[in-house]
Amino acid sequence: MTQKSRKGGERKGGACSFCGTPASEAPLMFNGADGSSICSTCIEHGYHLLVEHNIVEGKAPKQDPNAKFKPLTKADLMRPNRIKSFLDDYVIGQDAAKRYMSVAVYNHYKRLLAKGKTEDVELDKSNIVLVGPTGTGKTLMARTIAKLLNVPFSIVDATALTQAGYVGEDVESILSRLLQAADYDVAAAERGIIFIDEIDKIARKGDNPSITRDVSGEGVQQALLKILEGSVVNVPPQGGRKHPDQKYIQVNTSNILFICGGAFDGIEKKIAQRLNTNAIGYGSTLKQRIDEKNIMQYILPQDLRSFGLIPELIGRLPVLTYMEPLGREVLRSILTEPKNSLIRQYQCLLGLDDIKLSFDDDVLDYIVDRALEYKLGARGLRSICEAIMMDVMFELPSGENSECRITLDYAKSKIDKITC
Ligand code: ADP
Repeated sequence: MTQKSRKGGERKGGACSFCGTPASEAPLMFNGADGSSICSTCIEHGYHLLVEHNIVEGKAPKQDPNAKFKPLTKADLMRPNRIKSFLDDYVIGQDAAKRYMSVAVYNHYKRLLAKGKTEDVELDKSNIVLVGPTGTGKTLMARTIAKLLNVPFSIVDATALTQAGYVGEDVESILSRLLQAADYDVAAAERGIIFIDEIDKIARKGDNPSITRDVSGEGVQQALLKILEGSVVNVPPQGGRKHPDQKYIQVNTSNILFICGGAFDGIEKKIAQRLNTNAIGYGSTLKQRIDEKNIMQYILPQDLRSFGLIPELIGRLPVLTYMEPLGREVLRSILTEPKNSLIRQYQCLLGLDDIKLSFDDDVLDYIVDRALEYKLGARGLRSICEAIMMDVMFELPSGENSECRITLDYAKSKIDKITC
């Protein structure tokens, strides 16, 4: 390899074969005999990766003291029970999922901190799948974990993704979002968390994958594999492949934690089918022990497979847990208990105008009843509260009142107005 051009010196040759930077913009460009080139920025990045992975000894990149996300230290590592109690402050119920998440996140970051110290044992990533109906707190859980760890966090919708070459977003765009959330601090992005929502929507449709080309399903699952597993990916900084002249940023995904969420509508039937088959095989006692009201607790990776996720993808999402549908009591608690509960948020908003806001107890019960009717989980609570509070929030800031009490009659009148 020969050094061809230097800042301020003569510039020849094409763009960097790795990141696409033109020779005229690179601080230093090295050209290989076969016509390929690599710029000094990519070499530097590669060097830091080698240091980080203990392949060569050297200095890790200098940290910017003003960086938004600081590198993880042992002091940041929280034990699973502390992670869970932090989740308890924001997420109501969902004990099983919280325990799984706490352990998975603890192991993930322990693995990061132990890199190079566990001689023969290679610790695998603990990417997570959360299965559960809409509005039960899947996104909230992932967001809360990211807040706790102070790492970049981004949410992507799997339904927007397509396999390369088709109209839609390439899977690499997932990483562009994370880079944006990390203010383009690549090292911070490389230990961030990505929540992939609606993972069930890219399930394979039908049992035979080879008859038709399944653009939005299996193709996307295949494309996700390399990102989930851990590899160095060339990421267009603004996302998408619509700007071919953009410089690529290389992101190593091996330490990014992926949390996938999906409703998997109808998966209970598949679980029940499997349980029934087993029950027949082992006699009726097993069948009697099955709690039919909460079939989701028996979910296993093979149920995701029957639903249409490919085994390779399931293999890269080793932690599988479920979210329970939210009942009346949980919905009631969600309204008032979390640190940033809806009621507290409205009280805070009006408090900024020096107005003291209160809700009669029966208003809260009424909101919960309507939310149960809408079957949108906790998501329904927000839209009902908005409908009740809209006029109050419009009128009170410009009035004389310093107190506002929401009564059942008032709440009903606002909801009746929009539903009849
Ligand atoms: P999902 O991702 O499961 O569809 P979200 O996490 O987006 O649901 O939840 C929507 C909203 O409902 C959240 O912003 C949150 O305010 C509320 N919410 C849902 N589940 C819970 C819960 N278990 N505890 C507290 N709030 C919740």
